Amino acid sequence: MLSRFIPTIPSRLKRAIVSRNAFGKSLFSTSASFDLFTPSEEHRALRETVRSFVEKEVEPQATDYNRAEKFNEKLFKRLGEIGLLGMTADEKHGGSSMDAVAVCIAHEELSASDPAFCLSFLAHSLLFVNNLNLNGSEEQKAKYLPDACTGELLGGMGMSEPGAGTDVLGMATRAELDKDGKSYVLNGSKMWITNGARNETELGDVFLVYARTSGTQGSGTAGRYSLFLVEKGMQGFSLGSKINDKLGMRASNTAQIHFDNVRLPVSTHLVGHEGDAVKHMMRNLEIERLALAAMSLGIARRSIEVMSQYAQERKAFGQSINRFGQIQRHIGESYAEYAAGRAYVYSVARTMDLTKGGGRIDSDGVKRYCAPMATTVAGRAVQVLGGNGYIGAYNVERLWRDAKLLEIGGGTNESHEKNITKDLSKSGNRLP
Ligand SMILES: Cc1cc2nc3c(=O)[nH]c(=O)nc-3n(C[C@H](O)[C@H](O)[C@H](O)COP(=O)(O)OP(=O)(O)OC[C@H]3O[C@@H](n4cnc5c(N)ncnc54)[C@H](O)[C@@H]3O)c2cc1C
Repeated sequence: MLSRFIPTIPSRLKRAIVSRNAFGKSLFSTSASFDLFTPSEEHRALRETVRSFVEKEVEPQATDYNRAEKFNEKLFKRLGEIGLLGMTADEKHGGSSMDAVAVCIAHEELSASDPAFCLSFLAHSLLFVNNLNLNGSEEQKAKYLPDACTGELLGGMGMSEPGAGTDVLGMATRAELDKDGKSYVLNGSKMWITNGARNETELGDVFLVYARTSGTQGSGTAGRYSLFLVEKGMQGFSLGSKINDKLGMRASNTAQIHFDNVRLPVSTHLVGHEGDAVKHMMRNLEIERLALAAMSLGIARRSIEVMSQYAQERKAFGQSINRFGQIQRHIGESYAEYAAGRAYVYSVARTMDLTKGGGRIDSDGVKRYCAPMATTVAGRAVQVLGGNGYIGAYNVERLWRDAKLLEIGGGTNESHEKNITKDLSKSGNRLP
């Protein structure tokens, strides 16, 4: 009786299932050679290039720059030489016009060695370059992108403030249009700005800064927000301080920056139109969150490799510690969670169109899954290495400290949960 109510497969679909293509395969068969993580020849070449760059040039400096809390500027410029600093920017402005999968490959590979260096790369290449490439005028792009793509200019993005992080639209920084209508006057300050400082005393070079251009301070008000280019050397733009003694990401510079009556000409320093910055912000947050999730993969992969190798070599009670069930659990769970996260990251990347927004539920979802996964996996690696996990020599303590930032920066775990719940309810709580 029940079968009456079960929908049957339409005959057109049935014919498709049994029909064969020129190679005799069912049209529904999946190509065995398809590689989700490195789908094209270009992606494969990119992964090989970055991996070899990491082995030769990133890995040897990672521990020392972490200890010294210093950003490696020389190495950063090398990223420009191999075409990564403008990886998503248009070729005519010095970029490489790559896609979201390529972004994930680069962030995954760099983070397997030096997540802090990768964070500075992310802030420059995605928060500054990608955002300007999508939202800037031709004149603005021609002026800033070529030097940003070589690393001559160090860029960043200012959204967070001392009093507004998760509640970002509660920002207090204001840009008032001058009476003559030709320039804005910017006042306020931005907090936690990656690449905000080159060193202890010097600002980074150029920033995309979000500011309130009408409405009153406080979440939920009908404020309008605009995006501006702010450059080192402008009167009233200063470095508050480089933020030192961070838990992790110590080789990436973080700073507070101040704006005291900074005059910004409308024709050259307003990005897009007045009031349309929330659209820019939301669209750019999607690729930022996906890249942060890809960074989590690099951390987890390296941690698994280190703990698995160590557990094979380390002997206790007359045998390798990888014979103990509790150690196997650390390794086995880590591998399975990493593999699940990796599949999620690359499946989101494959469908992400950098020019469009609208994929928030999964850019939040993938970061919500992968960031704590990286912290957990790196923490397990520390545990498997015992005392050796607690010192710098095996890198996992650094990876564990760096991983924690991924649960905070670009959106906290809790903010992703808030967004996912909101987006699910907006879509009628139905999943495909
Ligand atoms: C190393 C580093 C680099 C960074 N780089 C940049 C950068 O380049 N540019 C930039 O603009 N910002 C940057 N940030 C800022 C980062 O994005 C913010 O720290 C983050 O968004 C959280 O904001 P907050 O620190 O103000 O925390 P808060 O928003 O004050 O959150 C504090 C706690 O309250 C929780 N909370 C807040 N609201 C809710 C809610 N509605 N529901 C449930 N829980 C909630 C949070 O999840 C968190 O646990 C960086 C931060 C760090 C640490």
